[in-house]
Amino acid sequence: MQTPITHKKGQLYFDTIALRKIADKLPTPFYLYSEHTLIENYKNFLHAAQDANLPAPLICFALKANPNPYLLKKLAKEGAGADIVSGGELARATESGISRQKIVFSGVGKTLEEIEKGLMGVGIYSFNVESLEELEMINSVAKRLKKCARVAFRFNPEVHAKTHKHISTGFKSHKFGLLRKDILKALKTKSLWSHVKLVGLSVHIGSQLTCLKATGKAMRELGMLAREINMPLEFLDVGGGLGIDYAPSDKNTYQTPNDYMQVISKNLQKTYLKDHTIKHLVFEPGRVISARAGCFITSVIRTKKSGGQCFVIVDGGMNDFVRTSLYGAYHEILVNKKPGRKINSHVVGPICETADCFATDRMLPPLQPNDLVCVADVGAYGFSMASMYNMRKLPKEVVVTKSGKITIT
Ligand SMILES: *Cc1c(COP(=O)(O)O)cnc(C)c1O
Repeated sequence: MQTPITHKKGQLYFDTIALRKIADKLPTPFYLYSEHTLIENYKNFLHAAQDANLPAPLICFALKANPNPYLLKKLAKEGAGADIVSGGELARATESGISRQKIVFSGVGKTLEEIEKGLMGVGIYSFNVESLEELEMINSVAKRLKKCARVAFRFNPEVHAKTHKHISTGFKSHKFGLLRKDILKALKTKSLWSHVKLVGLSVHIGSQLTCLKATGKAMRELGMLAREINMPLEFLDVGGGLGIDYAPSDKNTYQTPNDYMQVISKNLQKTYLKDHTIKHLVFEPGRVISARAGCFITSVIRTKKSGGQCFVIVDGGMNDFVRTSLYGAYHEILVNKKPGRKINSHVVGPICETADCFATDRMLPPLQPNDLVCVADVGAYGFSMASMYNMRKLPKEVVVTKSGKITIT
């Protein structure tokens, strides 16, 4: 997977532009995205799917990872669809040129208004239904609007994904999806189906998956359920969740899109695809497409020594980028300095919370006010999770375009 940042003679470059040159154009902190990296990651994922002997892949980018309108337009041009979880994301996806026929709608709390929006005009590709109560609501809205809703069950395969507990979603006790027995029951209840049509089955077992054992099991469960249902299906949707290597220690364990496709292909062939035909295999990747494409650029306000520890205080905070505070996530920190003497540093923000910290115990060169600090791999779940906590402004988003232009979006 590509990274847009390089270090040459003590200078950081993003794509081919000196970071200092970009930071001279607008105040820090801001998000910086590489269109080139994003599109390369998308193509790499698509090609891995195409090479794996799978039915025509439809890549529905998970908007919650990064809903930047400029980047979405570029993904739309490449043919991407969208995985959405709200009416706001539906509007953003369609405004960005993503076809409604390539949109899947997930989430346990779809409201009446959101369901109506999904049914308007050309209905969306699929409502990925997460409860019988939701199916009932979709059926009644579709009836009122004289439509037929396309739905897929989001199947909860009861597997434990090995990832952070906040982003594991496929176990029996989680709020997501329907259990096998409830899906089979729903299919027998005729009254639920007057204005909806079952077109697929989906799973999504969690995010930042770096071990694919649970994925393999989920695929087998999905294939077996599809077989058991014994109805023609237009698609199977294998969800998102493939992880990336954030930390140097992830290098040995993380799985590439090719590894991932092999696991999917092997397990679905065995259980279902060997003797059933579907039109599309749907994917909902977020992180693996956009994480590497973004950096968070912040400046040193001052350094502080306390209790023998060096704190580097920067102008970005947990309101701008929350993954490190929320999940204890590791992100590489790069600085605009020549290699040389290094000191143990904590990189912290100005927010009044101890968790407001981008990195602890990192060996960094001694830093001065106004030095640039770059937090890497923040193109997924970065800006999309930003808030205005402490009455701060939302950070700006900047794209380095394919032709090397700097665009504030
Ligand atoms: C969050 C989410 C995704 C994307 O997950 P990534 O880990 O970013 O690939 C896909 N599908 C659903 C239903 C999700 O909730």
